[in-house]
Amino acid sequence: MATEAFDDRDGYIWMDGVFTPWRDAKVHVLTHAMHYASCVFEGERAYGGVIFESLRHSQRLAKSAETMGFDLPISIDELERVKAEALQRSGLESAYIRAFAWRGSEMMGVSAQANTIHVAVAVWPWGDYFEDKMKGIRMSHAQWRRPAPDTAPYHAKAAGLYMICTLSKHKAEVDGYADALMLDYRGQVAETTGANIFFLQDGALHTPTPDCFLNGITRQTTIKLARARNIEVIERAIMLEDLGSFSECFITGSAAEITPVSEIAGINYKPGAVSEALVNDYSDLVFGRIAMPA
Ligand code: PMP
Repeated sequence: MATEAFDDRDGYIWMDGVFTPWRDAKVHVLTHAMHYASCVFEGERAYGGVIFESLRHSQRLAKSAETMGFDLPISIDELERVKAEALQRSGLESAYIRAFAWRGSEMMGVSAQANTIHVAVAVWPWGDYFEDKMKGIRMSHAQWRRPAPDTAPYHAKAAGLYMICTLSKHKAEVDGYADALMLDYRGQVAETTGANIFFLQDGALHTPTPDCFLNGITRQTTIKLARARNIEVIERAIMLEDLGSFSECFITGSAAEITPVSEIAGINYKPGAVSEALVNDYSDLVFGRIAMPA
């Protein structure tokens, strides 16, 4: 999977107020974020030169920062302007946008009260998160569980929460799967390593209640799209034993968009009509061919 390394590209990354040549957008090795995961981030996509749900992503970044105990040193309005300019400078119509904020280098212990907060925005080309996605991806079970609400601040899109995601995704890939289904601390179905999950049963969509994992922007959008089609959406506890009772399954995320699932560890799903309709609706929505349903 050799790609052009992310620190060796042409272009500019906005960093702490300045569009910096891509290869010069660096931090020191003694940066709190790198040692203690004091970093929050967003993953967004642009379609036809417009960042989908840009404002909601910026607001979530600010909220994640607040949850981690710091304020962004940039207003939401300014962040919106910077993201739009970063996209424009990239020359890309379709792109992935990564906005992030982290604690710097003034203190290097667990305590980092005096650390400067840094912000950066990078834009790069990114196609489908999964190859051949309409075929459906195969998923295994993750060996790590989403922590309880009193164990980690699950509302934040914070770097530290991704440690168990990378471990789980790597294990899945080594075992020949595209991703892993994570259960929560109770053993209920939660989400994947970077996306939310939906199932179809008798014409209704079922999705886990987001009470210990990110209530994704794409998840919320998908619920609106489904309801606009008069598809019932039921948020509930989904148990492992339920997995065999569903006919279709798909995952949702800004990167994954809506991606059908063909298998979860031996249980098969058909990327069927409902998944396909919602994939198409999502595409129509992000390209502005339809309006966001109420
Ligand atoms: N869960 C996790 C763990 C994620 O990383 C993401 C991607 N941000 C999501 C869910 C989906 O969130 P969104 O639809 O807002 O991208």
